[in-house]
Amino acid sequence: MRKTIISALAASLVWFASTTHANTDTVLIHAGMLIDGTTASPRERVTVRIEGNTIAAIENGFQQPQAGEILVDLTSGTLMPGFIDMHTHITSQMEPGSYMYRYTQNAADVAYRSVGFAETTLLAGFTTIRDLGDSFNTSIALRNAINKGNITGPRIYTAGKSLATTGGHADPSNGHRHGLLDTPTPTEGVVNGPIEARQAVRQRYKDGSDLIKITATGGVLSMAASGDNPQFMMDELEAIVATARDYGMRVAVHAHGKEGMMRAIKAGVDSIEHGTYMDDEVFALMREHNTWYVPTILAGKTVAERADIDGYFPEQVRPKARTIGPLIQGTLSRAYDAGVKIAFGTDSGVSYHGDNGKEFVYLVEAGLTELEAIRAATSSAAELLGASEILGTVEVGKLADLVGVDANPLHDISVLGNVSFVMKDGVIYKQ
Ligand SMILES: [Zn+2]
Repeated sequence: MRKTIISALAASLVWFASTTHANTDTVLIHAGMLIDGTTASPRERVTVRIEGNTIAAIENGFQQPQAGEILVDLTSGTLMPGFIDMHTHITSQMEPGSYMYRYTQNAADVAYRSVGFAETTLLAGFTTIRDLGDSFNTSIALRNAINKGNITGPRIYTAGKSLATTGGHADPSNGHRHGLLDTPTPTEGVVNGPIEARQAVRQRYKDGSDLIKITATGGVLSMAASGDNPQFMMDELEAIVATARDYGMRVAVHAHGKEGMMRAIKAGVDSIEHGTYMDDEVFALMREHNTWYVPTILAGKTVAERADIDGYFPEQVRPKARTIGPLIQGTLSRAYDAGVKIAFGTDSGVSYHGDNGKEFVYLVEAGLTELEAIRAATSSAAELLGASEILGTVEVGKLADLVGVDANPLHDISVLGNVSFVMKDGVIYKQ
C-alpha cells in the first residue's frame, strides 16, 4: 500500500508523513483557479474530488470534506494537469567530465544516479516523462521500479537505447579507438540496412521499450563531425516504422538537418525532436503527415552557453553546440506560425533534471500563449504519447496526476518553474 509522501523543497528531504493516506482514500482539492486543459479559459473556485487514483468529480465552489476525506487547500493558487515532458534522458546528466562516464560507469552506477533524477523531476511537477535514449536499458528498470512503488518518480514511457547507423549520433562507440569495444550490433542499437533495422526494433520490444527513438541526422553532443547530415536511408526508416507499428510502438526522431527530417516524416514517424533546420517545405510536409514537433529549446540554449566554457566539451563538439544550439527557439517560432503541432520537451539530462519548467518560458517567448504552452505539456503531450484516455486533462475518469502553483501562470508563466503541489496517481508527493 502506497503512502502519501510530503516533500519539502527539492533538497531530497522526503519522508513518510505520520498521517499517511493510501491512494484508495478520497482527497478534495479546493482550487482558486483550475486550468483543466479542455476549456479556453480557466474555471474559478472549484473542488476536484479524487477517489483512489482517479478524478471522480469536479464541482463548483469549495465543497466541505466529510469525515475521513483529506482536504488540500489551493484556494489562492492554480491547479493543472500534471506536466508531461516528451524528451528527457532521465538516467544521465551532462556536467563537467561527463564525457568520461562511458569509460568509468557500470550499469549500477547509472541506475543509482537516476533514482535522484527521477525524484527531482516528479517534484518539479512532471508527473509523466518520455525517455528518449539511455544506456544499459536503465530507464526501463527505473520505470518498472517506479511502477512497483519501490522508488519515487514520474510515470515513464521509454525508448530504451536509441537506434543509430554506424558512426551515427547514437552509435555508442563513436570516438573510441578500434579494439576498445566490440563493433555495436542491432542489440546495442546500431543498424545498417532494413533487416538490421527490424531486428533492432524487435530487440527494443523484447527489452521492454514503450516506443522507438532514432537519430535520423547528426547531433551536437556526439563525437562526430556533422551535426545535421542524414544518417538513415529511406528503406531503413520504412523498416523501422513498419516494424514499430507491428508492436504498437511510436517512433520519435532526433533530427537537426532538413534531408534527414524530410525522409523520416515521409516514412511516417510520429515526432521530430529538436528540428533545428526546418523550413517551410518541412512544415508543409509535417502538416500533411500529422507529424508532431518537440523543440527542446532548453537543450539548445544549454549547449550554446556551455560551449563558451573552455574544456567543457570535446573540441569536435564545441562548434556544433555554438552553431546549432541558439537556432532552435527561432525554428519553433516559425513552426508555431506555420501551424505545426507542438508538444513540450526539454532534453533534460542535457540541462539539469528538475529545471524542465524553464521550457515554458522559452515557448512563450517564441510566441505561444501561456495556455498553449501549458497544453503543449499536458493535453498535446498526452496525445503524442497515445495516452489521452488517461492523461493530459483534468476530467472525470482520468488518472489523478495534478500540479498546483501559488500564482496565476497565465499572468506569469515562469511560476511553473516552482510548483507547490504534486499528485501522481492519486498520491500526494509535494504539498
Ligand atoms: Zn535527447
